[in-house]
Amino acid sequence: MLILKTADDLKNSVPHSKDKTIGFVPTMGALHEGHLSLLRESKAQCDLTVCSIFVNPTQFNDPEDFKKYPITIDRDIELLEKEGCDVLFLPEREEIYPDGTELKERYDLGELENILEGAFRPGHFQGVCQVVDRLLTLVAPDQLFMGAKDYQQCMVIRKLLTLKERFSGIELVIAPIMRESSGLAMSSRNKRLSAEGLEKAALLSATLKSVRDQLTPGDNEFLIRDAEQYLRKGGFDKVDYIALADAVDLHAVKEWDGKEPVVILAAAFIEGVRLIDNISVS
Ligand code: AMP
Repeated sequence: MLILKTADDLKNSVPHSKDKTIGFVPTMGALHEGHLSLLRESKAQCDLTVCSIFVNPTQFNDPEDFKKYPITIDRDIELLEKEGCDVLFLPEREEIYPDGTELKERYDLGELENILEGAFRPGHFQGVCQVVDRLLTLVAPDQLFMGAKDYQQCMVIRKLLTLKERFSGIELVIAPIMRESSGLAMSSRNKRLSAEGLEKAALLSATLKSVRDQLTPGDNEFLIRDAEQYLRKGGFDKVDYIALADAVDLHAVKEWDGKEPVVILAAAFIEGVRLIDNISVS
């Protein structure tokens, strides 16, 4: 596996040609099976796979969360080599933000920016777009692989791809959520939980599944409120939201017609760690 650290290295070492497709898997490291599933998907679909590891400071609205973000770079490199990743892009901050981290342009994400994650993490999606814009410009992939675990992020990136002409040829591939046997969605942040916290955290996916199983056409507000209580009683310190939303633009669904594709999304804290999860209703 080639490990490249600069934009110039990337330009010189990653060949672009019509008959060799490039798959790209952007990550913040502390890799787990969720990340590796994206890598495998890219390897199955593309001729060359580039993975990036960069803990992007501009998407952290909470400086403590940024400081505590797990970093396991030696193990990450081992895992990527084992999976047969072709290129790891491992830039320093200056390489991604040569002119500083200040946002140079605002991305027009519409309402997607203000709801759910956007409401609780102001500026988060602008930071995500800022880094993904830069990475896509440097890597210039044919396919971009992202996980449904970050459902709203996928919708935001889908929108970003329509905002820039240079991204028009990039296909976004959304891969399913990888879970622990307990049902807990895999996440780098899980590494910050105690054994007890990990056990309790499984309640998040179980609760989403239970809401999905009980969903009926009409108003499901009572189900959502019950679920919120259930999480609190089960040891979650704080529930930012549980919501039933349209699967495409994520607008809140008050009265479900029983046919519209919807998704149930949640964000909640356990042991001070913020976890997100979602489940689609087909
Ligand atoms: P992160 O390193 O958390 O920024 O995640 C990098 C990519 O991995 C994003 O596209 C995530 O959605 C994806 N990802 C993270 N956790 C999972 C998971 N449990 N299953 C599938 N994809 C995931």
